[in-house]
Amino acid sequence: MAERGAVGRKLRWWHRQPSWPLLSQPRGLAVLIGVVVGGAALLGVGAAALTPIRGAELATFGALVVCAGLCVEAMRRLGKPSGLTRDLLGAWWLPTVLMLPPLYSLMIPIPVYLLLQFRIRRAVVHRRVFNAASVGAAGFAASTLFHGAVADDWSQAVALPLAATEGAMSSVQGALLALACCAVFTVLNNLAVAVAMYLSGTGAPWRKMLCDREALIVDGVELCAGITAAIVTGLSPLLLAVVLPPVLLLQRSLLFQQLQTAARTDPKTGLLNASTWEAEAGTEIARSRRAGESVAVLIVDIDHFKAVNDTYGHLFGDHVLFGVATTLTGQLRSSDVVGRFGGEEFVVLLPGADTAEACRIAERLRLRVGRMGLKADGTEVAITVSLGLAVLREHSDDLVGLLAAADLALYRAKGAGRDRVCLPVLARPEIPAQLGAHGVTHSEAVPSAPGGAAPESDDPD
Ligand code: GH3
Ligand code: MG
Ligand code: MG
Repeated sequence: MAERGAVGRKLRWWHRQPSWPLLSQPRGLAVLIGVVVGGAALLGVGAAALTPIRGAELATFGALVVCAGLCVEAMRRLGKPSGLTRDLLGAWWLPTVLMLPPLYSLMIPIPVYLLLQFRIRRAVVHRRVFNAASVGAAGFAASTLFHGAVADDWSQAVALPLAATEGAMSSVQGALLALACCAVFTVLNNLAVAVAMYLSGTGAPWRKMLCDREALIVDGVELCAGITAAIVTGLSPLLLAVVLPPVLLLQRSLLFQQLQTAARTDPKTGLLNASTWEAEAGTEIARSRRAGESVAVLIVDIDHFKAVNDTYGHLFGDHVLFGVATTLTGQLRSSDVVGRFGGEEFVVLLPGADTAEACRIAERLRLRVGRMGLKADGTEVAITVSLGLAVLREHSDDLVGLLAAADLALYRAKGAGRDRVCLPVLARPEIPAQLGAHGVTHSEAVPSAPGGAAPESDDPD
């Protein structure tokens, strides 16, 4: 019977998949992909008509493609796991931007992304094509800017090789301009990807997409490697053989770091996985006990999630998991520890929170998840969560006891009708009166009045 259910769900899922995945994307995203890919193709045709073919430039282009190809092969040997998105291929885009006519910036992603697709991992085709086009278009814009500014003759910008413009400005001016153009390339490319992610409705916050500290560090390293490669290319493309080993080594350490992060996080939500959360929560609880501070544990469980999967498909279910995870992290401080405990259950550790504060935060999380407004087939799907919470010393003195108490509280929340916050039965009746009336209860769970919960003004840090 269970098997029939699973097969039925799978069949429904297949039925939902259009034969061309691009058509299943939100309209805004499909338009963006069309504009970027179409724009890059048009620029390519125009630039090809204006750019004279020179042997030396073709040789430099070939050397840069070979270097990028070797980086892709090195990635393959290390085993680039799915979901890991950062590499150091920019080290080869930037010399192309600076040293060759803009047409080559449009061309270089083509062989490299083909290699990524066929040697590393078969990704959804429209995503690969969009990424290649956005790298190409950003490179074209930065290269045109650079050559036009160096030459002082904008009408020539698309066709000029750098050699033809030598001596047009001082080396300091040239270096600053090169840096600025490389930054323009990075910003344009990141912006295109961030807008695409936003339009795809993944719910990833702008701040995380554009200002992630790790990503900015990698961008900076990539910029330095790219400018070094550009200087070396200017001396002789053969010298790229000297730049390649350090770039490969940098890329190797970047991949190791990403692998390490991947081992700690849950791939569907980006939150800590259960074992890492337990380790971090255990450390924090031990510290709080020594310091005599309070700490609270929340278990958040999506209500009737099986029905959501059954009705809208597992793909939408995964979208809900990501949406809930993003909502939780968006509402919490960076010092709070959030993890996916398994299935549709999340756990949150709130260092320093006493019962009243934990109740306020739990209510805020419940309300915000209820307002996510995720859509399936154009219709909004109501998603609610039930939360159980437990507080150090109030309900238990260790992590295992706190989790058991929070789980008991969650069980009560489910039993009382879901979409509410509950405390375990052992709690001392210390909750302020207004919280008790707003849906947080000790032993007997009562329904929360929608919109009438604890104050929402406690915005996270
Ligand atoms: P309740 O309100 O009592 O929590 O009911 P529920 O349906 O949410 O809970 P139940 O334990 O019956 O079902 C959990 C469902 O979560 C079943 C499982 O298929 C689904 N699930 C677990 N992990 C994933 C996942 O990674 N993706 C998706 N889409 N579904 C998942
Ligand atoms: Mg559930
Ligand atoms: Mg559950």
